[in-house]
Amino acid sequence: MSDCLFCKIISGQIPAAIVHQDDALVGFRDISPKAPLHVLIVPRQHIATLNDLTANDDALVGSMARLAATLAKEHGYDQGGFRTVFNCNADAGQTVFHIHMHLLAGRPLNWPPG
Ligand code: AMP
Ligand code: ZN
Repeated sequence: MSDCLFCKIISGQIPAAIVHQDDALVGFRDISPKAPLHVLIVPRQHIATLNDLTANDDALVGSMARLAATLAKEHGYDQGGFRTVFNCNADAGQTVFHIHMHLLAGRPLNWPPG
């Protein structure tokens, strides 16, 4: 989508600290990190919100969760713990309308979140 920030990062039009790229997914550091490790995992395919997922996307979303675990392990946080978050729409604070999984680790993560 031409006016989507994350599509522009995926295509290289806007720079980001990329930590992972494959055929389907890109991972990059959040510009305003909320933990020592704060990565956003996004599909190359533009999907605006979780409400827009279909059964065809099940494997894609599963691969996002597996990538989060892989990146957490690469950074040494798999045993200590990490958190993954999808925000959906206004009440959850979604600000970029291209689905993304937040991967957070490296500090105690309180529950429930704010
Ligand atoms: P959300 O509030 O769930 O939609 O999350 C959007 C996230 O994108 C926020 O945590 C922002 O800090 C992050 N963000 C916004 N612009 C950029 C950017 N140019 N590069 C990396 N992360 C960004
Ligand atoms: Zn997009």
